[in-house]
Amino acid sequence: MAWNSEWRFVDEYPPVTGLMMAIIMLGIIMLPKQYRRYIVLMWASIALPIITYLLNHPDELQTPRGYELIGTFGPASLLLYVVFPFQKSIRKHINKVTGDLRRYELEAGRDYLTDIYNRRGLDLWLGQLNHDDRVAVLLIDVDHFKQINDRHGHSIGDRVLVEVASRLRTIYFEKHTIARWGGEEFAVLLVNPKTNTLPYIGSMFQQALSSLPYKSVGKVTVSIGISNINHHDDFLDLVNQADLALYAAKNNGRNQAVMFNSIHPQLAD
Ligand code: GH3
Ligand code: MG
Ligand code: MG
Repeated sequence: MAWNSEWRFVDEYPPVTGLMMAIIMLGIIMLPKQYRRYIVLMWASIALPIITYLLNHPDELQTPRGYELIGTFGPASLLLYVVFPFQKSIRKHINKVTGDLRRYELEAGRDYLTDIYNRRGLDLWLGQLNHDDRVAVLLIDVDHFKQINDRHGHSIGDRVLVEVASRLRTIYFEKHTIARWGGEEFAVLLVNPKTNTLPYIGSMFQQALSSLPYKSVGKVTVSIGISNINHHDDFLDLVNQADLALYAAKNNGRNQAVMFNSIHPQLAD
């Protein structure tokens, strides 16, 4: 007896039984099926000695702590068998929710019509660049797009935008990405481009987008503004530069690519 200092298991066993059961339950629910046997083994190596000991020491069993221990490791353990059949469906549900979340996240970064990045997707892409990466921005705007809508209808206009995006996708060269910047405007981000290749890249995009006729509408041209090259932290400044260059391209008669440094040579990098 404890009061005449006799050692008793029920007095010495630390008060961790509830916690242990909770961990075991969680393990069953969260861990993949192949680990289930380790959980059962863990339960058995803890519970069986305790149950055996208590059954062989009725004086200790017939105490509040004794009943609690036998209750937790005995009948409460049966919960394991209740949880087992549900484990598969709980895991399936968790996997589905995780997959859905990942899909929604991906979709939130994509433009619904053209399935290329939207501004949010482009922002996430920028965030993955290396610290010392430098970028240049090309803003591409479809010329007289309003007329296409007016003449052929909005859904044909939509089709032209989808076609522009798929032509943009087929242009292959060094590291870059494309995005729908808004309306009939697209952005291309070039990573670590060489300054002297920028005009060539601009006209390459212009050719790729304008040389072949578009289904139902025929000839479509684009104007392009090209920024300087700078650290990607300055992305929005570069967009402003590309926008100014695009404005100049429109004013010069459209269907052309203009470099920001050609209209502001004093700001050339
Ligand atoms: P500019 O050569 O100066 O760029 O002339 P624009 O007609 O292309 O430019 P403006 O800004 O006057 O018109 C753009 C039009 O693009 C107006 C808008 O209704 C249309 N637009 C924007 N987003 C969409 C879209 O998702 N689908 C369709 N079909 N039209 C769109
Ligand atoms: Mg336009
Ligand atoms: Mg526009």
